[in-house]
Amino acid sequence: MWIGLDDTDSTFAGGCTTYVAYLIISYLIKEGYVLIGYPRLVRLNPNIPWKTRGNGAVSFQIARRGREKFLVGMNYGKKIYGYRNIEEDCDNHGEIFSQVKKILEEEARLNDKNTNPGLVVSKKKIGYELYKKAVKGIVFLDEVTSLLDKNGALYIGYKNKRGLIGAAASIAWNPVFDKTYELITYRKKEKIGSKREIDDDSVKIMDETIKTTFDNYDYINKHNRIKPNSPCPVLYGIRGDDTEDLVKAMNIVKSEEFQGWIIFESNQATDEHLQKKEKIKDVKPFESVIVKGTVYKEPFTITGGHVIFSIQDAYNDTIDCAAYEPTKEFRNIIKKLRKGDIVEVYGGVREEPFTINLEKIKILNVAKIVEKIENPVCEKCGKHMKSVGKKQGFRCIRCGAKAKREKAKFTTIERNLSPGFYEVPVCARRHLSKPLKRIMKEA
Ligand SMILES: [Zn+2]
Repeated sequence: MWIGLDDTDSTFAGGCTTYVAYLIISYLIKEGYVLIGYPRLVRLNPNIPWKTRGNGAVSFQIARRGREKFLVGMNYGKKIYGYRNIEEDCDNHGEIFSQVKKILEEEARLNDKNTNPGLVVSKKKIGYELYKKAVKGIVFLDEVTSLLDKNGALYIGYKNKRGLIGAAASIAWNPVFDKTYELITYRKKEKIGSKREIDDDSVKIMDETIKTTFDNYDYINKHNRIKPNSPCPVLYGIRGDDTEDLVKAMNIVKSEEFQGWIIFESNQATDEHLQKKEKIKDVKPFESVIVKGTVYKEPFTITGGHVIFSIQDAYNDTIDCAAYEPTKEFRNIIKKLRKGDIVEVYGGVREEPFTINLEKIKILNVAKIVEKIENPVCEKCGKHMKSVGKKQGFRCIRCGAKAKREKAKFTTIERNLSPGFYEVPVCARRHLSKPLKRIMKEA
C-alpha cells in the first residue's frame, strides 16, 4: 500500500512534509505495520509559478509484514526499519487513510494561505508517466484526480488541493535512471523555532571525509547548506550516494541533540527535470532545458548584478540566458563568454522575460578572437593609413595608396576561459540539479 503527501509546511509557521511523513511512519510502525524500502523524497518541476516551497513531496510503501529488514532511521531511540520484500500486504486502505489523515490535519500548517496539502493512499502504484510529466512539465489537478479514481485510490486535497499533484506524482516516481539519498535529522520538540546549534567546522570535516556526500558546504560563500533557514523541525539534511556513508556523516557532524533521523531515497541531484532541446524554438516557459548554441549577444550586467547573454542555434533562433546575482562567482565565468563561443546551457525557463535561468554551462569551444591593434603604414608617406570601412581595406589620406585589410597588425586576444563544465555554487544549487561532483564520477 502506498501513501503520498505534499505541501503540509509553511514558510512562516514551520512544519515540513518530510517530518509529517516521519511521524506517520513512526505511528504506523507502532500500530504494527512495516515500512517497505526507504521513504522517498521526490522533487518536482522547480519552474512552475504555483509550486510548493522546495517542491518536495513524500511517499512511502507500507505492508502488514515484510522480509529482510534494514535500518532507515531512529525516533527518540526507537529504531525504524525498512523491509526489502513484502510478505503480506495490507488491504484496509480505508482505515489507514483515516488514521493518516488525522495526523496530517494535526501537523499541516493549514492556516498559511500558501499551504495546500494533499494526501493519497493507494493499493496500486501510480504509473511512472505522471512523475515524468510532473518533474519536467505541468500537471493539472483534474488529470491527477481522474488518474487516482482510475487507480481506486483514496485521497483528499485541502484548500486549492494542489498538494494532491505532488502526493500522487511522488508515488509515481521510480528510481529508473538514477537516485540519491538524504539523511534528515529532526529537532527535539522544545527546540523547534530556536537557533540551530550546528558546528560549521564539523560540517567541513564531514564534507572532506565522506566523499559520497555532496552540497554540504559552500567554502567560498561560507554557507552551511545542510542547515535549513526556515523555522521547520529539520535540524539538518545530508545528501549523498551511499546510505551507510550518510550515517557515518551524521556521526561526524557536531550539533544539538535531536529527536531522531531518517533516510529518504530521492530524485534530488539527478537532473531529471532537464530535457534536451535540439531547437530553441521548441523551448517553452516553465520547462527546464539543455540547449546548445553559439554565443550571440555578449554578456552584460543589469541592475541587481544579474548577467545576461544570448545564444543562437543552427536555425538562427536566439534566446537569452541569465546568471542571476545569487549564483555569485559563477557569473565571473559567464562574463568571460564572447561572441562565437559554443556552449550548452542547462537551466529553467522563465516566462517573463523569456530567459533560461542557468544552473550549469558546458563550454564546448572557446572562439579565437583576433583584434586589430595597428593600421598599416603607407610605404611612401610613412603615415598610418585610414580604414575604408568595417572589414575592408585601408587608404592613405595623403597619397591615396591602398592596402588590403591583412596588412594591419593583429593580435589574438587572451581568452582566459577553458572549455569544460561549470556550475552555480553550492549556496545557489537547486534540489534537482546534478552537481558536477556526481557527473564527474560517472564519466
Ligand atoms: Zn601615402
